[in-house]
Amino acid sequence: MRISDILKSNENTLSFEVFPPKTTKNYETVKNSVMEVARLKPDFISVTYGAGGGTSMYTAKLAKEVQENYDVVSMAHLSCVTSTRDMVREQVRSIKSLGIENILALRGDLVDGMDISHLDYHYAKDLVKEIMSIADFCIGGACYPEGHPECGSLSEDIEHIKEKVEAGCEFLTTQMFFKNDLYYSYVEKLNKVGVNVPILAGIMPMTNYKQVERSKELSNAYFPDEFLEWVEKYKTDNESFYKAGVDYAITQIRDLREHGVKNLHIYTMNKANVAKEIMEALG
Ligand code: FAD
Repeated sequence: MRISDILKSNENTLSFEVFPPKTTKNYETVKNSVMEVARLKPDFISVTYGAGGGTSMYTAKLAKEVQENYDVVSMAHLSCVTSTRDMVREQVRSIKSLGIENILALRGDLVDGMDISHLDYHYAKDLVKEIMSIADFCIGGACYPEGHPECGSLSEDIEHIKEKVEAGCEFLTTQMFFKNDLYYSYVEKLNKVGVNVPILAGIMPMTNYKQVERSKELSNAYFPDEFLEWVEKYKTDNESFYKAGVDYAITQIRDLREHGVKNLHIYTMNKANVAKEIMEALG
């Protein structure tokens, strides 16, 4: 089933992101965690694609297993910046042959000193067009309420998001954010320039201190004072940290729903217990 149809037909949606294993050795362990997440029957599950191709070989395989084992619609992430045109075409055909109908089309992060002018794909919109030329898929894209770190300004980035939607993205999923006002004003700005596809709010429950440190390093997300206060307070108390992190995400999610946000996407980090607590809190 196409995610665009789910977004149209369901009044509210709750979807989960999971990641694939890095090596063959830990495939079964990671798969079991992902299946625990799938067992919760969210509206759909998306499976990430390793930066630089590292964990890419299992993305489509895991997405297929989610669909087959739990009858949960899945989406395979696919990035293009480190791939040749032939590699991308092969991946897309393979995703199709596994019965997956949804792809999150990504450019992927640039590796230090990378000059995109020599590459087969420069931006995610190029991948969107490529996928559409190969087979029929529902295609989504990434978006950034605080602007993509490489882009000079949020308004310029929004223009590029618009191009990506015009190329064929049927929905967008946001980067994690920790202050809902950022999401509300971002959606308003997108709507103003004519981007009217569903914009799934991406929420990352922070359940340990290391995860916060890593997110600070990798994203340009704004961490509000009230968030950083509890992070510091519980940084050496794992149990209280976990509880405070899940509570923070639930508070964010409840506020989003109260503001009429229909589509929520949770970065589960393969933690079924976190996903379950969020589902229960939402009733
Ligand atoms: P693009 O949309 O191509 O944008 C990249 C940059 O180029 C932006 O700054 C944009 O403003 C700029 N740009 C776009 N078009 C133009 C143009 N015509 N001229 C000039 N500049 C332009 N990464 C992974 O490796 N694997 C994953 O599974 C993964 N999943 C993700 C899921 C979500 C929901 C999100 C938000 C991100 C994910 N990422 C993933 C990270 C993503 O690959 C990086 O953020 C990457 O740096 C940008 O990818 P993009 O698809 O947003 O790129």
